[in-house]
Amino acid sequence: MARNNLLSTDMENQLYIYNTLDRKKEVFEPINPPHVGMYVCGPTVYSDVHLGNCRTFISFDLIYRYLLHLGYKVRYVRNITDAGHLEGDNDEGDDKFAKKAKLEQLEPMEIVQKYTLGFHEILRIFNTLPPSIEPTATGHIMEQIEMIKEIIANGYAYEIDGTVYFDVEKYSQTCNYGILTNRKLEDLLEGTRELGGQDEKRGRLDFALWIKAKPETLMQWHSPWGWGFPGWHIECSAMSTKYLGTTFDIHGGGMDLQATHHTNEIAQSEACNHTAPAKYWVHTNMLTVNGARMSKTAGNGFLPKELFTGNHPLLERGYSPMTVRFFMAQSHYRSTLDFSNEALQAAEKGYKKLMESLSTLEKIIPSETSSVSIAALHDNCYTAMNDDFNSPVLISHLFEAVRIINSANDGNETLTANDLEILKSLVRTFVFDVLGLIDETKAAGANGNAISGLMDLINDIRKTARANKDWATSDKIRNELTALGFEIKDTKDGFEWKLNK
Ligand code: AMP
Ligand code: ZN
Repeated sequence: MARNNLLSTDMENQLYIYNTLDRKKEVFEPINPPHVGMYVCGPTVYSDVHLGNCRTFISFDLIYRYLLHLGYKVRYVRNITDAGHLEGDNDEGDDKFAKKAKLEQLEPMEIVQKYTLGFHEILRIFNTLPPSIEPTATGHIMEQIEMIKEIIANGYAYEIDGTVYFDVEKYSQTCNYGILTNRKLEDLLEGTRELGGQDEKRGRLDFALWIKAKPETLMQWHSPWGWGFPGWHIECSAMSTKYLGTTFDIHGGGMDLQATHHTNEIAQSEACNHTAPAKYWVHTNMLTVNGARMSKTAGNGFLPKELFTGNHPLLERGYSPMTVRFFMAQSHYRSTLDFSNEALQAAEKGYKKLMESLSTLEKIIPSETSSVSIAALHDNCYTAMNDDFNSPVLISHLFEAVRIINSANDGNETLTANDLEILKSLVRTFVFDVLGLIDETKAAGANGNAISGLMDLINDIRKTARANKDWATSDKIRNELTALGFEIKDTKDGFEWKLNK
């Protein structure tokens, strides 16, 4: 269902996005329509991604998919942090990559490669679309150095013994450093602790743009300030500017990045380019376990693979990737989502019901008149997604579609041929294109098509056997398919099948 309402002035058709900058929903007006530039902070690839990380990337996948569906030409940039991320967000602690490299006895770039591949594999399993550009920090050292030079030249950074710091106090004289978190400089200062080893900084809130290397530092580059490596925040400012320009439409990331990483990104870009980097700041909320944020350090961060197999003390059993994706879409991206076995089991039922309704939809026989309004259903789906990508409300409307489908199949509702076509297109569009679900009950891809064809053939052979009252062959087919893991249900027209995991 192609949709092109970009020039519409109808309020109901306008997309609203919650902008962290203003703490309210605003009409989405791209800077240069129909183009949209979207930058999302990607993973730090020094370890396996946990399910919490996945939630953030799946949330942005939903946003990306809906923007594409509306007809926008989106350039989606999501970086890979492969250098410069110290253990503490305030430039303290060991380098995450160097530490892991020592632990696993690998080169830092072997660590990067290993976990980048793992990250891509997991996101592929969750059926997320790849970004348009996936730049790495190590591939953009020159751009980061140039940006730091400009910030120094503009008077917002200073060098001390090979390390360059951003001058937050100087910046705050003309700009609002706490704009994203709505906090005053005094309050921020109040809440900041003194950090050991950084006595040289002028101000307590100052952060490193470039960090002097020690002789043993594994990843270091030559710069105007000597050998060193970039601070964590500068990579996103440099890469977003390079690929999306000094001001672009959407900047996203998890809410945990607001206070430090994104606050510093805004300051760097303003200090360099004299303009705010993004028009809309979008933040996704956290996946929690028993109310606590899922994280590697808290030890409650299980891996997607553990979730699929059920091999983790917190899991009663395994859940399929699409069950998990559906579970995530059932909550709004700005709400916390608490993990529980009960919630996943309920999501599994809901997901299966939705998939079954898509098969039922194919069997409905059209009538002369419609007893339900498909136009209203259509509008409700768009209104939900236009309201800050409200996927849980969208899903409630899709379940109204499920009710209509099942009732029409049972003869309790009627649909004209035209309405039936609109309904098919609407449900498929929102389920597959926008929510990004795939039907796991039927094997996917070329193999899936082959299996479907084969099952049609077997169905025909069995129908002939039954017509000839050859019950032995009919039962043999049924029993052997069941033994192979297929769930077979006899119908008027032969049988329906599902492939159980
Ligand atoms: P990292 O690899 O630690 O840099 O994190 C990658 C992304 O995952 C960031 O955008 C984080 O905000 C996000 N993230 C980390 N923990 C969670 C969580 N529990 N729930 C949702 N997103 C998270
Ligand atoms: Zn970033």
